[in-house]
Amino acid sequence: MLEGDGQRGFRVGAAVTARALERDPRIVATYPALAESAALVGSIQIRNLATVGGNLCNAAPSADMAPPLVALDAEAVIASAGGRRRVPVASFFSGVRRTVLAPDELLVELVIPAPGPRSGGAYLRHTPRRELDIAVVGVASQVSLTDGVCAKAASRWPRWRRRLCAPPRRSRRSPASRSRRRRSRAQRTSPSRRPGPSAISAARRSSAVTSSAS
Ligand SMILES: Cc1cc2nc3c(=O)[nH]c(=O)nc-3n(C[C@H](O)[C@H](O)[C@H](O)COP(=O)(O)OP(=O)(O)OC[C@H]3O[C@@H](n4cnc5c(N)ncnc54)[C@H](O)[C@@H]3O)c2cc1C
Repeated sequence: MLEGDGQRGFRVGAAVTARALERDPRIVATYPALAESAALVGSIQIRNLATVGGNLCNAAPSADMAPPLVALDAEAVIASAGGRRRVPVASFFSGVRRTVLAPDELLVELVIPAPGPRSGGAYLRHTPRRELDIAVVGVASQVSLTDGVCAKAASRWPRWRRRLCAPPRRSRRSPASRSRRRRSRAQRTSPSRRPGPSAISAARRSSAVTSSAS
């Protein structure tokens, strides 16, 4: 199921594929960030099978379709035998590879509100390789203007992804102690402390003498 328009917003079934989102002209026009993220998932073969529901439920920090859905204030419709509930996609992830889904629950659809007039969005990701790689960082943004003034702006990556990308912790050692340690490490491995070629040849010669004598 993929229904809606720019005025009412869209309902996107969990089984809609990345390829369908990437190619649907209504999605491209209404939610460019989502279409861009869908177009970056794997290869065409992968996108023909990869569903938006699977992308979210997988809950990988590299999931490309998650940041745009969070920036667009989308809601996840979750169903079980007990009924249905709605959860903002921003609260759908509870950690790396973890979601708020209970064992008896399925994600059935996503409800994406209309972005409003004079809105735009984009998705950018960083990958070490150019093709067929997963995101190290993926950021989606969504901006709406009212009377030329920025009325709403959202730039999202899941909170738990930020933790993964936190800058490395600085050493608590003082610079002087760091350089002392560096110097002593260098001395331990310096060529002058390793046996030189002449020492090795001498050892070989002496072992040859020993073995011929025995
Ligand atoms: C070669 C390769 C490249 C890839 N590249 C990318 C990439 O660039 N970007 C990216 O984001 N991902 C990438 N992926 C990961 C994956 O293909 C996508 O995340 C895809 O969207 C997953 O969708 P799926 O339908 O295959 O889910 P599945 O793999 O079938 O499911 C994933 C998990 O979610 C559960 N699940 C699925 N649907 C639901 C549902 N409706 N309700 C509850 N649980 C559900 C499944 O039980 C499973 O645990 C890549 C995978 C491969 C193999």
